[in-house]
Amino acid sequence: STVPVRNYDIPELRRLDVAHHLPAQTDYGLQQRNGGSKIITRADGCTIWDGEGKPYLDGMAGLWCVAVGYGREELAKAAYEQMLELPYYNTFFKTATPPAVKLAAKIAELAGGNLSHVFFNSSGSEANDTVFRMVRHYWTLKGQPQRSIFISRWNAYHGTGVAGVSLGGMKAMHAQGGLPIPGVEHVMQPYKMNEGLPGESDADFCARAAQAIEDRILEVGPENVAAFIGEPVQGAGGVIIPPEGYWQKVEAICRKYGILLVCDEVITGFGRTGNWFGFQHYGLKPDMIAMAKGLSSGYLPISAVAVSSEIVEVLRAGGDFVHGFTYSGHPTACAVALANIAIFEREHLVERTRDDTGPYLAKALQRLADHPLVGQVRSLGLLGAVEIVSKRGTNERFGGKEGTAGPMVRDACIERGLMVRGIRDTIVMCPPLIITHEEIDRIVSIIGAALDACE
Ligand code: PLP
Repeated sequence: STVPVRNYDIPELRRLDVAHHLPAQTDYGLQQRNGGSKIITRADGCTIWDGEGKPYLDGMAGLWCVAVGYGREELAKAAYEQMLELPYYNTFFKTATPPAVKLAAKIAELAGGNLSHVFFNSSGSEANDTVFRMVRHYWTLKGQPQRSIFISRWNAYHGTGVAGVSLGGMKAMHAQGGLPIPGVEHVMQPYKMNEGLPGESDADFCARAAQAIEDRILEVGPENVAAFIGEPVQGAGGVIIPPEGYWQKVEAICRKYGILLVCDEVITGFGRTGNWFGFQHYGLKPDMIAMAKGLSSGYLPISAVAVSSEIVEVLRAGGDFVHGFTYSGHPTACAVALANIAIFEREHLVERTRDDTGPYLAKALQRLADHPLVGQVRSLGLLGAVEIVSKRGTNERFGGKEGTAGPMVRDACIERGLMVRGIRDTIVMCPPLIITHEEIDRIVSIIGAALDACE
């Protein structure tokens, strides 16, 4: 391994963390009571280490992003070489850079079909800001400015900017900052375990979840609806894998009313489902997709929006699109993304996820299905979830209170050297795509031990 091992003054770093640092998505009172955040100092492969030298198997690939694993020297070299040649230049002044142009072409090739053009940003949240403005601009150019409404699902996560929080369906996020902004309609999730009716079949549930979208479109007037946006598999909502046929129905509804279909592939892009993109798993033809995370495996911040050639034709006739970031097409981030995609191709990470590690994870999770606290296990590719209940065979929430089980079992996993997330009553996992069978077995056995400890 080429990963340096340095000694840090951890107590001092934790003191500074409390004194000066506001980490993301954090209870700042708790941060202070805990005496600071857990300091992570290095990582290699699928393992991260904290400041005390304790290793953790990273079952979350950082935050759903480190697809090629940690310690990739060639990504560091790609950044180094690009920084020496041209660390930064923008795309505002009728300019572009070699890495930005090459990466746009590469993404268009991987997305295939109609998604011919790519707009760059630095984060998933910014990508969805771009989606929001580009979709509305498109409809205005088409002479239908009243088509401004987005349809989204509850518990969707589309980022933390004003557009992303509004498009997203996280009520706790809406409650802070007076969101959503007008023009976003939320409908039910395709989450049968929570929203299924007693005795309802999968097919009936699927039809009802899709019908909820059509009903809302008719309620607000199809002529006013700009786009439907959804994650092919909801990630931060708890790894919600929709029932068979759901996406085909959603796509048909969008086509019926001439509504754009936007897939947020920030988590599902770059191999996660065993395809380059989640929409390909479901055989969809979206008009626009957002991607980030796996695009650079998180080594540098970069995101992209791929757009259909029909939309590009309309934009081309419309003069300036007055939108873009200082770091749109950042050459160093693009160079790292290109090197990252080269690793994917050389190591066949997408095929491996589809044919080998994805099925292996699905089978390994079955070992937890009989646990007295497990209500359901589910996975697609290398996205997995274990849903915790108070008693197997029931839908009753652990401790009689929704949302207590996830954090409790997560903490028991972390104690045992496994990083996973607890989302309400679900343990979710999203390991690096380089994960081995042995490491998958370890993830499953640690979750099993954590569940035993919480019983
Ligand atoms: N969209 C989805 C589906 C996500 O999962 C995320 C982040 O988790 C985002 C958007 C926002 O991305 P970022 O945190 O890079 O702004």
